[in-house]
Amino acid sequence: MSGSATLGFVGIGNMGVPMAAHLLAAGYDLIVYDVRPEVAQAFVDGHGGRRADSLADLAESASIIITMLPNSDIVEQVVFGGGGGSKDRLIDALTPGKTIIDMSSSAPTRTVALGAKLADLGIELVDAPVSGGVKRAEDGTLTIMTGGRPEAVARCRPVLEAIGERIFETGALGSGHAMKALNNMVSAAGLIAAAEALLIGRRFGLEPDVMIDVLNASTGRNNSTEKKFRQFVLSRSFASGFSLDLMLKDLTTAVKLGHDTDTPAPLSSLCRELWAAADSQLGEGADHTAVVRWLEALAEVSLEALPNSDEGQASEAS
Ligand code: NAD
Repeated sequence: MSGSATLGFVGIGNMGVPMAAHLLAAGYDLIVYDVRPEVAQAFVDGHGGRRADSLADLAESASIIITMLPNSDIVEQVVFGGGGGSKDRLIDALTPGKTIIDMSSSAPTRTVALGAKLADLGIELVDAPVSGGVKRAEDGTLTIMTGGRPEAVARCRPVLEAIGERIFETGALGSGHAMKALNNMVSAAGLIAAAEALLIGRRFGLEPDVMIDVLNASTGRNNSTEKKFRQFVLSRSFASGFSLDLMLKDLTTAVKLGHDTDTPAPLSSLCRELWAAADSQLGEGADHTAVVRWLEALAEVSLEALPNSDEGQASEAS
């Protein structure tokens, strides 16, 4: 497949914008759709491509359709309709031989069921969720984990290479989505562990900035200590571009996978409960890094830099 194929992209959100922009930069003819027409139009105005009037319009024009949507409910709605919304859906204009690549972080068992339904109609489904966040989506250096028939994954590879740096073949359909949820479980646990350490240290009188430096030069280092704390927590921006409700969705998927496979995973369950509690306290629209705000409230201590760190350290330590 070359840059001459027409690609469809559904879901022009925080991740969809930079991912779709890389497809245009690679020379693909691109047609985009979002339930919010204004964001699809802003994308076209800023980057190029064409805005689809409807999902059916997009499905008619594109041979490969990428979905980058919040969750499995919405992916299924976009493909087969339902959900009480509009009657517009991809399936009405999808002809046999076309391929859907679901790059959303969807639920693996639902991906398997969706793939079987599509296969009956001669349409291929590949799951190819991503890791790396908005920054690496912008840089074109996402990690992509693909599940599906090897021939189908091979056909999609050039498209994925325009978006990501490392592309893994994790196995059958749904395996990419399973791997993605498990990755985020590890990432979410690492973020909470680091936050608790910083709060304890802060109460003892250690400076958050100094603790981050030490962790990053030591064995406690993780992705959150390197890429999130200074950038989004200590800066108080809480604006990573990955929402808390999406993280909670991923943790729910991972814990369900544990149940489905009869795997004891007590830490994962506790971790999910912590994120669920933070989600209900912080409300809609919170960034996932704001989980630290919730932990700060529990500990009654803030990781904000002290106006005069030397004085602050002395008084806290005494
Ligand atoms: P987002 O909410 O910013 O974007 C989702 C987009 O889908 C929005 O523009 C929304 O309008 C659109 N949409 C919703 N319902 C729709 C429908 N019925 N039809 C058409 N469009 C619809 O979310 P995001 O952060 O871009 O995440 C997208 C997916 O990628 C999620 O599954 C998420 O878990 C995953 N993900 C996100 C990140 C991140 O850092 N943000 C990283 C890796 C994976």
